[in-house]
Parts: sequence; structure tokens; C-alpha cells
Amino acid sequence: MKAPELLKQIRPQVLERVSMKPGRDAAAQSAFALELDGFYSALEAAVDTGNPAWLDPILVEWARTSTLSSAEGPRLNLPGLLERLISITSDVALEQLGEGEALDLLTTVTPIYVYALEKLASLELEGRMAHMSNELAQTRDKLEQLDRSKSQFISIAAHELRTPLTLIQGYATMLEDSLKAGTAPEVGSLLKGIGVGIQRLQRLVKDMIDVSMIDNDLLSLNLQPLQLRQILSQLQTELEPIAADRRQTLTIDGFAGSDSWIYADPDRLQQAFRNLLGNAIKYTPDEGQIGVGGRELPGFVEVTVRDTGIGISPEDQELIFEKHVPTDSELHSSSKSNFKGGGAGLGLTITRGIIQAHGGTIWVESEGCDEVRLPGSTFHVLIPARTDSIDPEMRRLFGPLTEAGSKHNGKEDSPTNPSST
Ligand code: ADP
Repeated sequence: MKAPELLKQIRPQVLERVSMKPGRDAAAQSAFALELDGFYSALEAAVDTGNPAWLDPILVEWARTSTLSSAEGPRLNLPGLLERLISITSDVALEQLGEGEALDLLTTVTPIYVYALEKLASLELEGRMAHMSNELAQTRDKLEQLDRSKSQFISIAAHELRTPLTLIQGYATMLEDSLKAGTAPEVGSLLKGIGVGIQRLQRLVKDMIDVSMIDNDLLSLNLQPLQLRQILSQLQTELEPIAADRRQTLTIDGFAGSDSWIYADPDRLQQAFRNLLGNAIKYTPDEGQIGVGGRELPGFVEVTVRDTGIGISPEDQELIFEKHVPTDSELHSSSKSNFKGGGAGLGLTITRGIIQAHGGTIWVESEGCDEVRLPGSTFHVLIPARTDSIDPEMRRLFGPLTEAGSKHNGKEDSPTNPSST
């Protein structure tokens, strides 16, 4: 008999022995047997034609997919499997065939097995290299992203610092002139102008520090027990006069969840909602309405900030959370509350960073941007209803808030926020 027939003859025994593995479940066993069957058929074709490339498709498939891995167990050693096939083929040949036939068969089949081993090794190497180059590409993308964000940051800094510096410089020059001319009564208002410029500069520098902390995952939270109601009612007191200046109504409704005690950073949450409400005032024309509401969801409290303002076009609804260099048209006014008063474009980046640092999410819904129709915008904020602190000292002081609810409620009739200023 020739090698191809001999190989066919010992097929059942070889396959049975190779596929035997105690402890493998029935489904995995039959999947593995199917793979082996395919391999053996390809081996027979390779021996028949003298061309080992018949094995390529199945070897590529083995190296590529996890079909066989799941059959063999999580860490399948493909070269080990081939070695087992080689050794079982030679055992069975020696047991079942005459000495001469066994020698004939093994002389023919061994170079094909060697080819398969080499092919598999090179495929595995290619796979590992592809994986490494993929990881390298990801690292490169990350570095490029960091680089872009750094340049973007520098251009925002350069752009934004210019305005308050020009303001301060202008007032300082006027002050100098008026002192020279002896027009002392003007000094007070000029100093006030300088003060405004310095305040803007301070705000900007603070925002930039926040953005850089968020970009570098360094924003640390001071988690304390709080009720969202406390944060929101303080903001109402703070922002109502500003809304009133614009003849806008600012309504903050109580909602299920706003009275629940959760661990969160009061200063940071207040900053986040101040940005949202500040924007709602800024991007809503005079006499518009701004409302805050919310609801309790499983594991989260949702807060919504809605306005009857100009709205946000769908293509900008993601972008506004990225830091951006304001265009000249956005910079026509520097007020925090004037209609469409320009800002540094960092507010929502910081807001999202704060919410995400809490484990929450933020998104906006708006039909589009239209200064005539005024479709308005609704910002949704999900904050995890975290009732347990990771800080042992906080746990000692307050314990899980679900148990301590009544204790807190008892003494917090007129809420005192630890961050209150
Ligand atoms: P800015 O300082 O420019 O207000 P933000 O990061 O706070 O920076 O907001 C980014 C942009 O998102 C704004 O320039 C504005 O175009 C848009 N935006 C934010 N809030 C609203 C809103 N309530 N209504 C309409 N547009 C908004």
C-alpha cells in the first residue's frame, strides 16, 4: 500500500487517541473532533499530492480563531497539539502497520508535519507581532491625542489670557495717565476695572488647572454625604439675581432622589451645576425660562437642566463637551451672563470631567440651534446614588447613608452644605 492509503487506514485510531482528553465536556469534545477531522483530511490531501500547502487554510484558521482554544481549554498549545499528532501517528503506524509500511508512511508524513510546525510557529509569530504593532499603534494614537490636546490647550491659554491682560493693561495705562494729569477722582473706577480683569484672569487660570487635572486623570474628589437639594438650592440663591437681571425665571423643583443622601463632592458638583445653569442663562434670551428637575433611577439620580434658549445643533452636541478655542463671534462679549456672552469654552469640559469622576454621565438633548424659534436645550446628568464611602474615616463618621438617612434628615432641616461659602 502507498502512503496515502496507509494514512487513511490508521485514521480512526489516530483521531480517537488525539481527541481523547479526560474532563472535556461533550460539546467541546465534538467541536475538537471536527477540527481534527478537518486537519486529517488536509493531511491526507497533502500526502496524496506531495504538497504540504493543503494544510495552510486550517493552520491559519487555528492560529486565528479561538474555536480550537475553547475546545482544548483556554490556553491551547498549538505546537504541542501538532507534536501530539506526530507522536500518535507514529505510535499507531508502528502498532497497526508492518515495519516497512510504517517506515514508508512516516518518511512521507514527517516532512509534512515539520512543515506544519514551522508554518504554525511563523503564524503565531505574525499574530504576536500584529498584536504588538496594534498596541504600539494605540500608544502612538494616545500620544498624538495628548500632543493635540496640549497644543489645543496652549492655544486656548494664549487666546484667553490675552483678553483680561489687555483689560488690565488698558486700565493700568489710564490710571498712569490720570495720575500724571492729577485727575484723582477717576482712580477708583480704574482700579475697579483692573480688579475685574484680575478676577477674570483668576477664573481662567482656575479653569485651566481643572481642565489639566481632568485631562491627566488627576481630579480627586472629596466625597461627603450630601443631598442634591442642598447644592441646587444654594445655586438658586446665587443665580436667581443674575437670571432676574435678564428677566428670566429660574425654577428648581424638588424631585425623587434630590433628598436622598449620597456620597459626592459638594464643591465639585456645585461647580458642575453652576456651569450648566450659567450656560442656560447665557444661551437663553431675556425673559426665557430655566428649569431644574430630575428623577430617581436604579443606582442613579438624574438631574435635568432645561432652558428655552437658542438650542444646540445635533452635530455640536458631542463637541461642546470638548475644549475648544472660541471663534471671534463667540468672543463678542466677555460676560458670564449676557445673552451669548463668550467664555473660554472650558466650562462643559470641566463639568463632564467632574460628573465622570463621580462615575456619572452627562449628555444634552436639543432639537437644534435656532435663535428665532428657540428650541431650547436639556442637559441630563446621571450621578451614581453612592451610599457607601470608600474613605474609612467617612464610614466611621457617617456609615452607609441608607441606614443613617433619618439621622441626617433629622439634623439637616435647614441644609448646611460643607462647601457653602
Ligand atoms: P463657553 O465658555 O463657551 O460657554 P462651555 O464649555 O460652557 O463654554 O460651552 C461650550 C459651548 O456649548 C458654548 O460655547 C455654546 O455654544 C454651547 N452651549 C453650552 N450650553 C448651552 C446651552 N444651554 N444652550 C445653547 N448652547 C449651549
